[in-house]
Amino acid sequence: SGGDNSSREKVKETLRLFYGACRKLLQEEEAKPEKDRIKRFRVDFVASKILKSKGKYLNVGVHILGPVPGIEVGDEFQYRMELNILGMHKPSQGGIDYMKHGDDIVATSIVASGGYDDSLDNSDILIYTGQGGNVMQAKKSGQEYKPPKDQKLVQGNLALKNSSIKQTPVRVIRGNQKAALESSGGDKKGAHYVYDGLYLVEEYWRELGSHGKFVFKFKLRRMPGQPELSWKVVKNSKNLKYREGLCKLDISEGKERLPISAVNEIDDEKPPIFTYTVKIIYPDWCRPVPPKPCSCIGGCTDDAKNCNCVDKNGGEIPYNHDGAIVGAKPLIYECGPRCKCPASCYLRVTQHGIRFPLEIFKTKSRGWGVRSLKSIPSGSFICEYVGELLEDSEAERRTGNDEYLFDIGNRYENTLAEGMSEIMPGAQAGPAEEEDEEASGFTIDAATKGNIGRFINHSCSPNLYAQNVLYDHADKRMPHVMFFAMDNIPPLQELTYHYNYAIDQVRDSMGNIKKKACYCGSAVCTRRLY
Ligand code: SAM
Repeated sequence: SGGDNSSREKVKETLRLFYGACRKLLQEEEAKPEKDRIKRFRVDFVASKILKSKGKYLNVGVHILGPVPGIEVGDEFQYRMELNILGMHKPSQGGIDYMKHGDDIVATSIVASGGYDDSLDNSDILIYTGQGGNVMQAKKSGQEYKPPKDQKLVQGNLALKNSSIKQTPVRVIRGNQKAALESSGGDKKGAHYVYDGLYLVEEYWRELGSHGKFVFKFKLRRMPGQPELSWKVVKNSKNLKYREGLCKLDISEGKERLPISAVNEIDDEKPPIFTYTVKIIYPDWCRPVPPKPCSCIGGCTDDAKNCNCVDKNGGEIPYNHDGAIVGAKPLIYECGPRCKCPASCYLRVTQHGIRFPLEIFKTKSRGWGVRSLKSIPSGSFICEYVGELLEDSEAERRTGNDEYLFDIGNRYENTLAEGMSEIMPGAQAGPAEEEDEEASGFTIDAATKGNIGRFINHSCSPNLYAQNVLYDHADKRMPHVMFFAMDNIPPLQELTYHYNYAIDQVRDSMGNIKKKACYCGSAVCTRRLY
């Protein structure tokens, strides 16, 4: 879609701020004792107000016909409010947004919440019912009942009619129902809105609705040449065992909670041979000692001032109750093996392992990469970077085979927390104390022994970041490296993080500077991995 290089980054940044604010607000709410919590707390409302007051809305005061810069077909959103924040679709209730166009009005976007008509599932056609006439009236208690009326050819309905005459494009956002549920695999927490692309209104007519009044119907057809929505691709290859290019059903050979398949639709290369391990392999001299346990029998809460695990995190649980990370921190302390709390404790997230159906797939130019078959909500835990733990000096000796090294610690990026502390007081990165103390000195090598993490490629515009976490030992020099989603990630979109190499700092065994081209394909790519 249109726009310069930076518009995509701007959209991502805005949504990261929005979700960050949502999770921070939710964290504050969840920290309250059950009885003090607001019944149906609308974090999205409060968060959007904060963004608005800080001038973080995009495309303010303009209506856009056609693509919105920085928004791509297949992008997923959790709340309707986001469509407003980005200038995708401004009305908070109405299904049709429109603008002046010459002397008329034309539609700019519609939110199709009715879901897909099953018979039309795989077609590019959408039949959309006009607005008005009290047809969509929900029977909420305390609300006045309005009898149905004929819909009129005014406002949004008139705009869609004009769009049909002028053949102007209409953005279609699929809401709430099937598309979104399908994408998140039936998980109601996942994506609620999916941007489906541009459509043209082919025809419209008036018909008698089931309530005996007239409604308008608009037949829209998706404009050709746009990418197919990934949830449809996943759905169409429903029998995953017989998918095209499938070369292995589970590269973890049962070691992960969910099987991780390998797919190659590019050539006939088979997945590489290595030993799949789900736990870090420590050197012989290193015997990690479990941390001091807490004694919260019923599970740790941040109102329990006596939990020393919560205390280590600055007195708050760094995760929401759904397991989403609230914000990036230098180090997160989870409860450990000797803690009295149950496995369901909110302070145990990454230690439970992968939650999303991941797979490795052959890319065109970056070897194998990782993607998910389901939508991933922003803030979700993805996987750990597992391998053999080495001292840096030993890692340096392995220069010949350095493709799978991950340098632990001192990688803490403040990018996530930066904008956040500006809009949310109290959302800072946490005590700086951890940052520089001991210069890390450890590396994880996943060349011969590792997990799914070893397949995650670099991107200059990544959707994951690496978070340091301690849970089964207390040695701050060698925290676990845990990847979290920074964005909502649609199914089949490659998962990537920023390798953070310093350009011209990687050397071969002879001391010569090594260079490697980056093929991440992002609009802001710097062309060099190192
Ligand atoms: N693609 C790897 C594979 O097939 O096993 C998995 C990632 S491995 C940790 C790191 C290596 O992947 C790099 O040394 C490079 O060869 C390749 N790679 C990762 N990101 C890349 C990028 N953006 N551009 C080009 N190559 C990349």
